[in-house]
Amino acid sequence: MTWHPIRPMPDIKKDQQIGKSSRERQDILVRFQYTIEQSPEAVFWLERNGRFSYVNLQACRSLGYSREELLSMYLWDIDPDFPKRRWKKHWEELRTLGRRTFETRHRRKDGYIFPIEVSACQVTLGDQEFHAAFVRDITESKKAREEQSRLQEQLQQAQKLEAIGTLAGGVAHDFNNMLSVILGYSEMLRNKLPAGHGVLRDIGEIEKAARRSMDITRQLLAFSRKQVIAPVALDMNRQIGSTVKMLGRLIGENMELDFGPGEELWMVKLDPSQLDQILINLAVNARDAMPQGGKLTIKTSNMTPAGKSLPFNGDVSPGPYVRLTVSDNGSGMDKEVLSRVFEPFFTTKETGKGTGLGLSTIYGIIKQNNGFIDVRSEPGTGTTFNIYFPRFEGKEQIPEMTEPTPGSQGSSTILLVEDDDMVRNMTANMIETLGHTVLAVPGPLAALSFCETTHVPIDLLLTDTIMPKMDGAELSSRIEVLRPGIKVLFMSGYPTAPRGGGKALPYRGNFIEKPFTKDHLASKIRKILRE
Ligand code: ADP
Ligand code: MG
Repeated sequence: MTWHPIRPMPDIKKDQQIGKSSRERQDILVRFQYTIEQSPEAVFWLERNGRFSYVNLQACRSLGYSREELLSMYLWDIDPDFPKRRWKKHWEELRTLGRRTFETRHRRKDGYIFPIEVSACQVTLGDQEFHAAFVRDITESKKAREEQSRLQEQLQQAQKLEAIGTLAGGVAHDFNNMLSVILGYSEMLRNKLPAGHGVLRDIGEIEKAARRSMDITRQLLAFSRKQVIAPVALDMNRQIGSTVKMLGRLIGENMELDFGPGEELWMVKLDPSQLDQILINLAVNARDAMPQGGKLTIKTSNMTPAGKSLPFNGDVSPGPYVRLTVSDNGSGMDKEVLSRVFEPFFTTKETGKGTGLGLSTIYGIIKQNNGFIDVRSEPGTGTTFNIYFPRFEGKEQIPEMTEPTPGSQGSSTILLVEDDDMVRNMTANMIETLGHTVLAVPGPLAALSFCETTHVPIDLLLTDTIMPKMDGAELSSRIEVLRPGIKVLFMSGYPTAPRGGGKALPYRGNFIEKPFTKDHLASKIRKILRE
């Protein structure tokens, strides 16, 4: 391309002129010319009719047109968001404002469209007017901004769930205490009545309602990560393999179920019943999303997410994970629903059909085990859940089974520590009917002073875990000093998990979850006293 030397316009004011001599001026102008031409930003001059009268090298490069092509084109030929009819107004606005910066898009010759930022200014030289536009490709920074706001959203979502979890956990805890009382007294009442008594049916109804409430509180506890768990080294393929049949029955015959176990799958550390719960809840949802039938696919695989492939950059530590993928080709979800699925009690199902606790339970379980979950869904296409559990490097163990075996009367002395009056009375009542001697005290200090001041032999300490002043763990270690060899059984509907954490609890084996039945308590006590 040939360059015509640019002469300063005659009416440029003296103080705006650059260079002292005309030679110097000429030299500077040539530099200007090359600076604009070589600029890393695309530069466009637009005439009053919207046509380009100058484009620099970068403009040609970024759009894939030759200079000749561009110089015969108009703004609306390259900006898909700029209709020709808006040109006049645009021209006038820029004339008034002098300059403006805005975002829009450009279309390359091959049709590819990319986002840009434009700084435009109005230039008047004598009676000549034109627009100069400086254009930057903002594909990268836009991506970074979107990524940032996605992370922000995820963080808010996680914080919201955390807050709801704390609330739900607190409610569930108190609720559980009351349910222990209701169930405990119902059971005692039942035992006092002769078989066939008319009131027994009513008691049955009370118990049924209490058990249903128990199920709900159990799920809330799972969500708030307060569930007592017994994680073991687990081969997920084996566990799923043994549940798959049951899942098939659960979802019904008109649904296809496909399980694709990943090869040489790593171990995870997980309570098998929690894995079952995850699968059941997901399968039930999939079934509900495919009333006309469809396909449920379960897959496992090893993966080590790194850098950008982390689904949740925000709260995921890199490292090896075992991934469980559960997908269906059902109704799918829109964005609105998708953003709320893990909230407890969020349901789109009609009353009686959904509790809104399925996915929140899963969320809690996954967090409790330091995993994470990712869900993708399109309305009409289906839904895919990806669940990641950290790889566990250790040997597989067979989980121990504790079968409650009812019957047989006891004869031991039990120190019961419980701060809730109703729960204490009810539990004391239960222990007595089991034939044991019970010493019931309302708190740790009373328990300690009892052990210090008397010589009554005590076989077992049965204590709540969370109490004001001192928790069950501390109480037990202090009593063990006073009474070496004493057996300890902890009870709570709300075991002390570290705040926000999901570590296993220190009470494995000698723990009983509230609410419990008399039979369950009896077998626990028996087991511990036998040890
Ligand atoms: P519930 O099943 O009791 O409604 P969940 O917590 O299990 O509660 O699910 C919450 C909501 O998420 C459901 O009501 C439904 O709208 C949506 N959902 C969950 N899983 C799926 C799925 N596989 N396909 C479509 N929608 C789903
Ligand atoms: Mg559900």
